[in-house]
Amino acid sequence: MGHKGILAVVSGFSGAGKGTLMKALLEHYPDQYALSISATTRSPRAGEEHGREYFFLTRDQFEELIQKEALIEYACYVGNYYGTPRDYVLEQMEKGKDVILEIEIQGALKVKERFPDTLLLFVTPPSGAELERRLRSRGTETQEVIAGRLGRAAEEAAYMDRYEYLLVNDDLEVCMEEMHRLIQAQHHRISGCQELVESIKKELEGYR
Ligand code: 5GP
Repeated sequence: MGHKGILAVVSGFSGAGKGTLMKALLEHYPDQYALSISATTRSPRAGEEHGREYFFLTRDQFEELIQKEALIEYACYVGNYYGTPRDYVLEQMEKGKDVILEIEIQGALKVKERFPDTLLLFVTPPSGAELERRLRSRGTETQEVIAGRLGRAAEEAAYMDRYEYLLVNDDLEVCMEEMHRLIQAQHHRISGCQELVESIKKELEGYR
């Protein structure tokens, strides 16, 4: 087993149920995972709290983080900045936690470029119609915002092939377990177990 945590990126259309999925995963396996909390310039939705769902920042504050290179990646999404604070992610991985970034596609591809061992997961509802239904039933957003998110989903669909695994979020529990298994499988990647590989090779050298 590798010693350090896995970095997993979870993307998917807005309305795919990623948030609920993450919550379930963390509740089931609280010692295994750490969820990165992003910074954003969008306004909090009803019930959202600063430091829990996001760090809600002004544009100036966000741009300061960019300047200081305090973000692993950032992107603009439907008119707002979103970014991943660097320190927390690296600290948690060092502690052996598997860190999950719930971020959109541009950011996901940047993370993969920077950390090639990153696992890229894409979450989708079973169909496009179901996505629209879920977005409308959320009831917290205007028609305009919903239309914007559907338009964005259409654009994002073009990038689904860049991901490594597709998770269909039909049954929450099933989807969560699939995600857990996929992430845990990464601990057995040969590239992450080099120390053990080398020590076994060395031990066996004497039998040649
Ligand atoms: P929402 O406004 O619905 O919370 O999020 C909108 C989109 O931004 C979602 O696709 C979400 O995954 C993405 N997002 C959230 N945090 C980050 C981040 O730190 N970086 C990037 N690139 N995208 C993010």
